Amino acid sequence: MHIAIIGCGASGLASIQRAIHHNVECTAFEMSDSIGGMWQYREETDLGDLGNPMYYSLRTNLPVPLMEFGDFKFEPKSGSSFPHHTEVMEYLDAFAERYDLYSRIKFHHKVIKIKRISEKWLINVKNLQTNEDEELEFDGVMICSGHFSKPLWPTIPGMESFPGMQIHSLCYRRNNIFKDKKVLVVGAGPSGMDIGVDIAEVAEKVIISYSRFSTKTKPAENVEMKPRTCSIEADIIHFADESCESVDAIIYCTGYKYYYPYLDPSCGIEVEDDLVIKPLFKHMFNIHHPSMCFIGLIRMISSILFYLQAEVYMKCLTQQVQLPSTEEMLKSFEEECEMKAKRNLPKSYFFFLGRNLHQYFDDLAEVGQLKPTPPALLNILRKVVSIVGEDFSKLRKYKFKIVDDVNFLCCEE
Ligand SMILES: Cc1cc2nc3c(=O)[nH]c(=O)nc-3n(C[C@H](O)[C@H](O)[C@H](O)COP(=O)(O)OP(=O)(O)OC[C@H]3O[C@@H](n4cnc5c(N)ncnc54)[C@H](O)[C@@H]3O)c2cc1C
Repeated sequence: MHIAIIGCGASGLASIQRAIHHNVECTAFEMSDSIGGMWQYREETDLGDLGNPMYYSLRTNLPVPLMEFGDFKFEPKSGSSFPHHTEVMEYLDAFAERYDLYSRIKFHHKVIKIKRISEKWLINVKNLQTNEDEELEFDGVMICSGHFSKPLWPTIPGMESFPGMQIHSLCYRRNNIFKDKKVLVVGAGPSGMDIGVDIAEVAEKVIISYSRFSTKTKPAENVEMKPRTCSIEADIIHFADESCESVDAIIYCTGYKYYYPYLDPSCGIEVEDDLVIKPLFKHMFNIHHPSMCFIGLIRMISSILFYLQAEVYMKCLTQQVQLPSTEEMLKSFEEECEMKAKRNLPKSYFFFLGRNLHQYFDDLAEVGQLKPTPPALLNILRKVVSIVGEDFSKLRKYKFKIVDDVNFLCCEE
């Protein structure tokens, strides 16, 4: 059995390591020259398919216990629970070295097409250094190509009339270009809040416009939270509370597209409005051909879930456990869609599990017949969400430590 792994960011690395652990032969294709995916900081912004949302000052928004792969400890030198992105790269590199993951990776290899033919996966790969194409055959495919390289722009009436700089968070790198400016940040998700606060350090004023949720406390003196941005008339921004403000620059922190240009229709996967990938069982298995899986589609959580998903896939692939029948998986997928439709959630929330995330971890453990994820880890996540909701500016002042499977310590530094 030989599988292909597409992409070598955090999800690809977890997948290679789990494949090696299960003695499954694997070849990982990475189109860039390095591992790490979005954690590999690139100063340039005009990166095409290698588009990268990492910015200079970024510190993690999840504490280190949630960013570990299995029992490979993440202990940043800074001692912070929310380390700088360079320390995440160091961790990923140490993980790749420790498990000899580099030996399975083909760098500068871009996957151009994946087809399903005669019970096999045919993958067309371009060597970006020699420009040569190859077609290779595999028994399984793990899609680990990330979903933070193609910006999702909102449609706001009058956007085109704005005279100042307008960028997407994908292209945000450093705050210095916003010195003494008035800046509108559209979107109050993790990126919007973080970038807003980063810019507030040098800007005259930052307005963060939210569509659904606002934090209770404003994150800095010169930051104002405003409801939805309704329209733009030259430099004047109109908000849903009927207020308006003049600004010098706009940053759209409005999310990213799920982008899989290489999936041939024979794969049996449909990508709806660049936001919903279907039909998938447990947000990862291609229901029509479960030897294909997607790692890391779920939002707000990463490494601990990548590792679990990769382990569950390996257990199914090697037939240590059985997936339900196609009919049962389709039924489960349809129930999930109905539940989302009832809650009237926009499609951009399809992979956002909110309170159901804990159940999701338990469901995956059940599919893979694994021990449930220690409650302490998921309770840390709950605590992070509650701190962010109360006072975003305090998050990185906290230190988190796991005590045992159930308990964790959280104290202000
Ligand atoms: C601004 C921002 C901050 C974040 N902060 C945190 C945080 O603090 N903590 C946390 O846990 N999570 C955070 N996340 C979430 C993020 O999901 C993960 O941290 C994670 O690193 C993503 O890993 P990935 O492997 O899925 O994708 P990526 O890191 O995007 O890696 C995908 C890789 O696939 C390669 N690739 C793509 N297409 C092809 C192709 N066709 N052929 C070959 N290779 C290909 C790319 O070159 C890339 O190297 C953040 C996300 C964003 C956007």
